[in-house]
Amino acid sequence: MTKGLRESLTSNDGCLRRPRTIPLCRRLAAVATALALSAAACVHRNDSGAEDGGAKATESKPAPPSTGTLRAGPREVPEQGLQVIDRSDLRARLAALAADSMEGRRAGTRGGDKAAAYLASELEKLGVEPAGDASSYLQRFHLPPTVPRAERDSTQNVVGIVRGSDPRLADEYVAIGAHYDHVGIGAPVDGDSIYNGADDDASGTVSVLEVAEALTQGPRPRRSVLLVFHGGEEAGLLGSQHFTDRPPVPIEKVVAQLNVDMVGRNSPDSLSIIGAGRISSELDRIIRREAAAGGLSLDYTLDAPDHPEQLYYRSDHYNYARLGIPVAFLFAGLHPDYHLPSDEIERIDMAKVERAAELLYRVLWAVAERPERLERDRAAPPPTSQAPTTARSVPRRSRPREAPRSPVSDERRRPE
Ligand SMILES: [Zn+2]
Repeated sequence: MTKGLRESLTSNDGCLRRPRTIPLCRRLAAVATALALSAAACVHRNDSGAEDGGAKATESKPAPPSTGTLRAGPREVPEQGLQVIDRSDLRARLAALAADSMEGRRAGTRGGDKAAAYLASELEKLGVEPAGDASSYLQRFHLPPTVPRAERDSTQNVVGIVRGSDPRLADEYVAIGAHYDHVGIGAPVDGDSIYNGADDDASGTVSVLEVAEALTQGPRPRRSVLLVFHGGEEAGLLGSQHFTDRPPVPIEKVVAQLNVDMVGRNSPDSLSIIGAGRISSELDRIIRREAAAGGLSLDYTLDAPDHPEQLYYRSDHYNYARLGIPVAFLFAGLHPDYHLPSDEIERIDMAKVERAAELLYRVLWAVAERPERLERDRAAPPPTSQAPTTARSVPRRSRPREAPRSPVSDERRRPE
């Protein structure tokens, strides 16, 4: 399907949209970019033979000398890719993941496996290369017996790769991830016992999926992209631990990891960024630049080293950071429905999820496209056992039945 086929004719800001939900001016800019891109792709294609966004090489254009010298500078974030990121897509996929039929997607349960199968089928539809076990999308791992209410003793990550377009850099990877699991079925609240996890973390999961669509329908960046939907996050960051201990590609080839968790609530125009400058100050500069380009304001309050929640240590990016990989955690903050059955799709701000997905795409592109790797100019974080004591003893908020807790599992305190 090319850019404009999926129609939604009008939008809530009264601006006539054709195709998808993009103002005319942006679409014209996109067409201009697409033309420029296809011209470039012709050149690139002849040069390296790799596909670059489906542009067809014209026979008439002589192949440039194959000196191996590919395009010099990083390309701009392609409008063509940004256009693919679409609110109605995001909503449709979030509705599927947060449906009662997914039974709250708990690791080691029927609902958790169903969600993983859904993600694998979406990746297959997009033509993403499987990177799990035995050429599948699933990377299975065992659940420790301490995991409560698991019906099975194993679960899975869902993993795929979008190959980079530059033969010299395609063996390096930018990893993007979210956790697709949630807390499942629990104590009923107002008669509802399914914890749908629409924000936590279906919002991040569909953002990663939408970026996968932009990468497979638009131009591909120079480096490859690892798509990792972590399982078992709520049970103690188990999926990201397993993935970083047994990666399908050499872990030293992973140049950065971007983690998205709970991006569908709170103020419409801002996002919290955690950890971005802790290992690579360049990554932080890129995020600030790209957020400004997308008109999104950033909040660094939760990133303060002495912040009581110590979120830097408490989500999947930490398992990459502990290995010295530059990471950034995109997060929109807690809310009253956190870890309650009321975390439902009706309360999600889809425009905000769209903006978070666009920021994810922009930053991923900038990091994957740059000639050199991000400089790691700061030390990796200390292991959790040496993390500020507050990180290990953030008190569980008392809750009537399932009061909100910190956005990532408390069960994460694995013995080091
Ligand atoms: Zn979460």
